[in-house]
Amino acid sequence: MSQFNLILLGPPGAGKGTQAGRIVAEYGIPHISTGDILRSAVKNQTQMGLEAKKYMDAGELVPDSVVIGIVKDRLQEPDTAKGFLMDGFPRTIPQAQALDAGLDDLGRAVTKTLVLLADEELLVARLTGRRICRSCQAPFHVLFNLPKAEGVCDVCDGELYQRDDDTEATVRNRLEVYRNQTEPLIGYYDEAGVVARIDGTQAPEKTYEDIRMALGPAGA
Ligand code: ADP
Ligand code: ADP
Ligand code: ZN
Repeated sequence: MSQFNLILLGPPGAGKGTQAGRIVAEYGIPHISTGDILRSAVKNQTQMGLEAKKYMDAGELVPDSVVIGIVKDRLQEPDTAKGFLMDGFPRTIPQAQALDAGLDDLGRAVTKTLVLLADEELLVARLTGRRICRSCQAPFHVLFNLPKAEGVCDVCDGELYQRDDDTEATVRNRLEVYRNQTEPLIGYYDEAGVVARIDGTQAPEKTYEDIRMALGPAGA
């Protein structure tokens, strides 16, 4: 694989953010999380953030035009030249088509779509106990992935908080939105022959081993 143009796909709570940290460290590619970019816009109360917040609080998808714009801009930055890891994008067929078209213009294509899989009750338990670092966005869990000191990020000493949309009712809606709008992307990328299905119910280190096997060595 000459480039690592990677997508992490899977339902909310499957472990995308957790695995993303490991992947970008080993493969030396930037982590592009549309959720993180949107939450930063909400925090900074930009026009885009104010518009996106109502969708995010309801567990609905932000309109395609908004997220496609975010990703197009991000792909202009030079650190994406050797590859990238998309986390939480694309989430709809039009988003996938826009990404393909944008990459095609650059003479590039998606090289692998890693699909993290886990059953629904596990996802609910993971999301309702999730805590996120305010500074570096690293995910922790009150039962499954405790930080060394309560309420403090292991990575950067930042403060941990619970996302507004990690309540049970919103989580259930996000899972339904995933099934209806995002799951069809697995078939879309299967047609391109780039899908690797990964069991996301295992311990994080074990899941990462499977991801490495699917990607091959970083220097290749
Ligand atoms: P996603 O980005 O797919 O929504 P996260 O990586 O944020 O998922 O993980 C959701 C929650 O589950 C977090 O609280 C995280 O600490 C926890 N988690 C992630 N992977 C595992 C795992 N393999 N085993 C147990 N808990 C996990
Ligand atoms: P999770 O890690 O739990 O899957 P994300 O952080 O990826 O959640 O997304 C949080 C919210 O941000 C979504 O529920 C949605 O409102 C919005 N969002 C993020 N990425 C996209 C996208 N590609 N398309 C539309 N909405 C998005
Ligand atoms: Zn942190």
